[in-house]
Amino acid sequence: AEFSPRAAQRNGNLLSPTLAAAQDPQTQLQVINEDQDFNQEFNDYMRHVWHLADSGFDYNLVAVFGSQSTGKSTLLNRLFGTQFAVMHEEQRQQTTKGIWISKGQNMNVLIMDVEGTDGRERGEDQEFERKSALFSLATAEVLIVNMWENMVGLYNGANMGLLKTVFEVNLQLFHDRNSRKGKTLLLFVIRDHVSKTSLDSLAEAVQQDLNRIWSELSKPEGLEQCVIGDYFDFMFTSLPHKLLQQDNFNRQVDQLRHRFMDPSHPAYVFKSEYHKRIPADGFPKYAESIWEKIVTNRDLDLPTQQELLAQYRCDEIASAVFDAFAEAIQSLKPPLEAGRVVDNLGTQMDDHRRTALAHFDKNAGRYHSEVYQRKRREHLAKLNSELHLLFLAQVKNLAKQSVRQFRESLKQRLAMTTDQDFSTVIVSAKAQALDQFNEQARQAILDETEWAFTAEAEQLDQELQLITDQLKQEELNRLMRRLEKSVQNQYTDAVSSVLNEPHTGMWGELLSQFFAINESKEQLLRKRATGLQVPTEELDQLVTQFRLVAWEAFCQRIHDDTSEQMMLVRLRSCLEDRFRYDDQGLPRVWKPGDDIDGQFNKAKDSMSQLIPLFNRIDIEGYDLKLDDYLPASFDVRESLELLTAGKQKELAKRFKREADALYVEAKRSVVATTAR
Ligand code: GDP
Ligand code: MG
Repeated sequence: AEFSPRAAQRNGNLLSPTLAAAQDPQTQLQVINEDQDFNQEFNDYMRHVWHLADSGFDYNLVAVFGSQSTGKSTLLNRLFGTQFAVMHEEQRQQTTKGIWISKGQNMNVLIMDVEGTDGRERGEDQEFERKSALFSLATAEVLIVNMWENMVGLYNGANMGLLKTVFEVNLQLFHDRNSRKGKTLLLFVIRDHVSKTSLDSLAEAVQQDLNRIWSELSKPEGLEQCVIGDYFDFMFTSLPHKLLQQDNFNRQVDQLRHRFMDPSHPAYVFKSEYHKRIPADGFPKYAESIWEKIVTNRDLDLPTQQELLAQYRCDEIASAVFDAFAEAIQSLKPPLEAGRVVDNLGTQMDDHRRTALAHFDKNAGRYHSEVYQRKRREHLAKLNSELHLLFLAQVKNLAKQSVRQFRESLKQRLAMTTDQDFSTVIVSAKAQALDQFNEQARQAILDETEWAFTAEAEQLDQELQLITDQLKQEELNRLMRRLEKSVQNQYTDAVSSVLNEPHTGMWGELLSQFFAINESKEQLLRKRATGLQVPTEELDQLVTQFRLVAWEAFCQRIHDDTSEQMMLVRLRSCLEDRFRYDDQGLPRVWKPGDDIDGQFNKAKDSMSQLIPLFNRIDIEGYDLKLDDYLPASFDVRESLELLTAGKQKELAKRFKREADALYVEAKRSVVATTAR
């Protein structure tokens, strides 16, 4: 694979052309090249070539160490099905530069083939040996140390120099024993085991060398007493000569493979305590940051690196999850913005939030626990604040809906109800509207939030109260108008029936009817106003207002009924009753000799006593009652005057003319009868 960091960045998660070509999951990647650059395609390889990114902790990492041309790559390829480059017999030149990485066939194992870590041979770059040892120890669970049998016991051999380096950097890396979570396994593979020496003896020889190196190591402060077993476990195995004993070699490699694949194998190499606990999706980033520290020779503190990785990955995960979340809740916005109430908004928001948290937990939960918890709180807060906007919109729309429904339901209920129930209807409609609002708003509140809608509920209450008050007022106005109309009609009847029979005491009669009519209406008014829960004070005012209006209407009826024209008609009809009808109420037919003049004068005299009755409304006997009945500021006596002296004179004159006409008509009728 070509090394092109920018290509990978440019393509983001898409496959780069190099990746697209890398169909074979065993394609290897040069993770560190000869210039010691870190390959940015690592992440894409993890994801798209090796398909390991989602495997969490369920992957293992093994690195191989050893002098050049000791058959390392050959062993790895045979063991794991990888395709690391192998040196050709003829060329005898170094093939592997830097660090290559690949995935084992049919296993979640990453294999690092480290450049011939043989500083002595390469001469120029012992420094790289140190760096790759650091890198491998920080990441791998198992280090395969590859060596020829004939090198065993050569304390000054290249391998021992290498192992010294490994031990030194290990102490540098894991100097804080408390932060040391587990050990690393050193698996010695002794190649070309052709001598009669037993494996045990070889192992013991190696072990002795290791102990010696360890004891000669200068240990950091506080670690003077530490033993090699604090940091490493050891396993030894050997292989026959590949070329001389090919079948045997292959068979033993096959057997060795079980140790990497079968957890139930007694010598299974990937004990969980060796795992570096870096989630697979964060491993490339982790490896990069480690490498960056190594090449810049800065302090490499693994716990800090893990925390930094956790921060980085949690942020990355949160941001990806948030994007998906924001996209998912997008569909909830248009209806809310259009003022609609979204059904089950709470449940829907909860689902989206749950999904977003679950995705976050699934991917971020494997990282540094404190960092993860903190980032989770941040993530949740961000989700919540986004959802809070929807909640607020919903509450606003709910309040609007409540007002609308309240008006609507009041209208409907009032149409089906009698007046007495009016207030009950309002109270229950309002309570229902508020209950429904509270209930629906509460349903939109999510757990782990401090959302509230107290202010909105109060405002809604006030709004409904305003509507209620308006409706009450309208209802009262309607009632007052109905009562006024109804009393006016009754006054009209009473006034005309009483005044059409003018007699002394007629005013008293009329006033008594006035009070009787009012009394029943007042009772009705009190009853309904009480039903509307009008406060006593206001009710008293209403009654006073009613009485005043009633009185004025009553007086107005009387005034209308005592206009000159009406009086003339009334007097004339009285005169006719008396003059044209006899005592039995039969019409008179005048005959010659009848005392027309006498009868006429008698009738006219009785009439003249009637006119003064209409001078004014006579409230005698009711004056105290009226003073009490009407507001103190109202002057009852002002409106009593009906016919002024001048008007009386005028009326008398016109009446006389009418009467004379009647008289003449009577006389003529006699003449006519006689003349026939
Ligand atoms: P590396 O440099 O350690 O990766 O070694 P290579 O795998 O490239 O092999 C170097 C040379 O050693 C090649 O020519 C191989 O054919 C040869 N070789 C590989 N395995 C063995 C082995 O087990 N015994 C012997 N004698 N030669 C081997
Ligand atoms: Mg090699």
